[in-house]
Amino acid sequence: MAVDTHMHRGQYRFRYPLEYRYALFSWPSAISAKCNGCGSEFPFSAVVPDTHVKDEESGGYRLVERPMSGPIPGRGTCLKCGRVSSMLSWPNDAHFRFPLSGGDIWAWNEEHVQVLRAKVAGDRVLERKLCERNHHLHYYLSRLPKQVVVKRNRMRLIRAIDRASRHEPLGKPVAKNHHGKLLGTGA
Ligand SMILES: [Zn+2]
Repeated sequence: MAVDTHMHRGQYRFRYPLEYRYALFSWPSAISAKCNGCGSEFPFSAVVPDTHVKDEESGGYRLVERPMSGPIPGRGTCLKCGRVSSMLSWPNDAHFRFPLSGGDIWAWNEEHVQVLRAKVAGDRVLERKLCERNHHLHYYLSRLPKQVVVKRNRMRLIRAIDRASRHEPLGKPVAKNHHGKLLGTGA
């Protein structure tokens, strides 16, 4: 079924039914992808499909259920090798992928990595804070496999997440480097 992907975000927020709060079948527009040419991380701006479509029979809106894997249209350019991409194959092209017994888990972008870490570490306060800001995150957490919070997986997973988060995006000045330079040239 064709889905109108050009609806403004504000519009869909406005008519977003509360009972479907956590039943979203969508992805964020900013996706951290992996370049198929050189393997580096590259920012992908995805076309975000509408989560609900008008139901002619009832006159209301119904949730569109779609798989969270497969092709994702959009646009991205690798900052390292210049490769241009207009389609991702998810989750194969995910930059943030973490090994877990029973299958890898992945995250859409750094915000999702952050909430994933909070979940695994059992930081309920941070988890709630992040989810309040972005309802996609709650939905993301609710779909993670149970093994994510199993104690024996915890340390390995947190280490993998921290390793991935330390990665600094290419071509973007990092605050702490700037600070370091200031200190170095100070006195
Ligand atoms: Zn590349």
